[in-house]
Amino acid sequence: MPEIQLAPYAVSISKHGRKFAEPVPPGRSEFQRDRDRIIHSSAFRRLEYKTQVFVNHEGDLFRTRLTHSIEVAQIGRSIARRLALNEDLVEAIALAHDLGHTPFGHAGQEELNACMKEHGGFEHNLQSLRVVDVLEERYAAFDGLNLCFETREGILKHCSLEHAAILGEVGARFLNDRRPSLEAQISNLADEIAYNNHDVDDGLRSGLITLEQLASVRLFARHLNEVRTEYSKLAERRLIHETVRRMINTLITDLIAQTECNIQTYAPQNVEDVRTSPPLVAFSAEMRELNRELKLFLRTHLYRHYRVMRMSTKARSIISELFQVFMSDTRLLPPPFVAQETAGQARHVADYIAGMTDRYAIREYRRLFAVEEN
Ligand code: MG
Repeated sequence: MPEIQLAPYAVSISKHGRKFAEPVPPGRSEFQRDRDRIIHSSAFRRLEYKTQVFVNHEGDLFRTRLTHSIEVAQIGRSIARRLALNEDLVEAIALAHDLGHTPFGHAGQEELNACMKEHGGFEHNLQSLRVVDVLEERYAAFDGLNLCFETREGILKHCSLEHAAILGEVGARFLNDRRPSLEAQISNLADEIAYNNHDVDDGLRSGLITLEQLASVRLFARHLNEVRTEYSKLAERRLIHETVRRMINTLITDLIAQTECNIQTYAPQNVEDVRTSPPLVAFSAEMRELNRELKLFLRTHLYRHYRVMRMSTKARSIISELFQVFMSDTRLLPPPFVAQETAGQARHVADYIAGMTDRYAIREYRRLFAVEEN
């Protein structure tokens, strides 16, 4: 297949390069190399056993952070290709965007942030960047994966101004009110499309939400009715999949159309123009509203379902008790996580906890607190 000609406002090469200069890779682009490095990282493999909404041991069919990241990459690449943007960069960002997530999803992240309140806090986006910049130990010549600036800026989706100020070039856009590349913007919205839709699917599969409840969500109901009219005798599982599939398609199609329209309006000539324009990758106003309704439904009925809340409560106490016990006596930590000076100890403990998979955190908790384990 011939190479697709990239749009002039796409990121074609890494203008800002890598922290440690390396020769251009033969036979693959800089961003393909980034993607390859991410896939070979140990943080990437651990995504398999980290929660999205359902804790890993709750069932084999639910999404994990690994399958979620792969879905984000797929959606992101489809959008990028249609807009003549750099698919390889979108894929690299998508596969890395959740590397810094703690075990147990948002409950884990919130609790670790609370534990780290006096020590600079904990932000998962920042942690994803820390994983690729510092924590991965795979290369003789440098710490981390030495990724291109453009990949790193995409990974740092959000960040507090306080942290942005100390991050240098990659944090500057938060202070100067600049946007990241269109490729980074795509990865961000592909993430949203992926999780809203797979959470509907997983939520239904788990029985925590029902088709009847979802009938109140316009975006879902519209597609459900469409499928029911076309296929009156469809079994429920297939009905759900077909509905979700169509919903994803509608969201992607809308996003592409609105983004094309925004690109026409603001007419960026290059990546620098993209940075100074408002966010150009966006849903239409109508779709934004429908999407908001879907998110609100998920928050009320799934993320705050009493069974999810029970798991979240357990997760919080596991995280906070692990943090406290490690802070109280660093001799309990594996040696690589013991800081040379006491001042930086909390960050090492946070790195250790954030790197754990769900099941590792549970095991570590048992090893430390259950009398019969060791
Ligand atoms: Mg995500």
